Amino acid sequence: MTSALASLPRREWTYLAEFANEQLPRYTSYPPANRFASSVGSDAARAGLCTLPTNASLSLYLHIPFCQKLCWYCGCHTSVPTQADPVDSYLRALKAEIAAVARQLPSGVHVSRIHFGGGSPDILAPAQIADLFGALRSAFHLDRFAEIAAELDPRNLSPAVVDAFADQGLSRASLGVQVLSDSVQRRINRVQSRDEIEQAIARLRSAGVHSLNVDLMYGLPGQTREDVIETAMFAATQDVDRVAVFGYAHVPWMKKHQKSISESELPSSEERFRQAEAAATTLERAGYLPIGFDHFAAPGDSLAAAERQGRLRRNFQGYTDDEAIALIGFGASAISSLPNLIYQNTPDTSAYRAAQAAGASTVTRGVVLTPEDQRVARLIERLLCEFEADLPVDLRIAACSRLARLQDAGLVELHRNHLTITARGRPYVRIVAACFDPEFAPKIDRHSLAV
Ligand code: SF4
Repeated sequence: MTSALASLPRREWTYLAEFANEQLPRYTSYPPANRFASSVGSDAARAGLCTLPTNASLSLYLHIPFCQKLCWYCGCHTSVPTQADPVDSYLRALKAEIAAVARQLPSGVHVSRIHFGGGSPDILAPAQIADLFGALRSAFHLDRFAEIAAELDPRNLSPAVVDAFADQGLSRASLGVQVLSDSVQRRINRVQSRDEIEQAIARLRSAGVHSLNVDLMYGLPGQTREDVIETAMFAATQDVDRVAVFGYAHVPWMKKHQKSISESELPSSEERFRQAEAAATTLERAGYLPIGFDHFAAPGDSLAAAERQGRLRRNFQGYTDDEAIALIGFGASAISSLPNLIYQNTPDTSAYRAAQAAGASTVTRGVVLTPEDQRVARLIERLLCEFEADLPVDLRIAACSRLARLQDAGLVELHRNHLTITARGRPYVRIVAACFDPEFAPKIDRHSLAV
């Protein structure tokens, strides 16, 4: 153990192999995406959109599925453009979808948040950014202080792109940092220097972007606890507002490029667990507050306030304080979440372009939430956000045998109908959530590891 590791305080992280190795959904939605069906398509989406309340507050997500270079660990829907001018034709399709969806919505809806994800939204040229915002502003009523956020790649972040987003009111940016170690960076095909990251942060701050998030990873090939601590300390010294810490999910049967990652170099299950623990301990020692099971926020950040006030939510982007009634996704693979409906666009970028050019719908699958689904969704969200919840009697009875196993291991406590996830159980919170998911079948679905 290095001196850096030895100086960390003891935390209640207990490695339990039988739980840490379980494969589970991440529950960024309930029902999870593996239950979306092709029988739910454009008709359901149209009906869901046009019946939103007339004064509904909306959150928009725009997916930009292009990157300059593919990181081998990537689990996102993205590609490196090969054809000439791919971004322009994609943006035409995106603008067509924006206009078409806006026509279906009640007239009084307004937009409180816009999030650009990908892929790498910084692949857009300044003129394309302005053009896209023009389309958004002509289709929607944007709140005066709408939060505008973008996921950005520090390696490609030019001052012109930062200025173009800032001109449109960019208020929050999320930077992929992942790991600083050179050898791990080479193993994952994502080489970026500290200088590049620091310059990106300085550029964003001087452009007036007041809130910064960085994403870190553990469980990467060749990664050690020392690497995790070094990167977490770096994030803390940059004084960023939020840090998200994700475990690498090795799913080469779904993401072919992950075959370039050598399985023999992946940390063991216990080492992954210890790396997650090391990241959490480092960030908490630096003054960050844990938010849910994989986010950390500075005490003055709005996510920390939402957690204190019981307003923390979970959506496709992870933990959020977004209170909008509906999240509408635009672009290939984008998912929309309405009060009783989740639907997804085709992930095939060419099919997406062609359908939008023809004026056809790009919705290919989804799920209509029954009242029962909504009840389970609310319970799972509360558990993932607050680590405790009152259980409806019937759900407690249905989950009884699964919960008993967790009680025996000291991961949860049940007093009458109130379930509390213990400090020891917090790393395993997704296993607790799965107890209430009536269709979750352990070992059959191929999800990510519990920790
Ligand atoms: S930059 Fe992000 S989205 Fe693009 S390949 Fe790398 S991890 Fe995936």
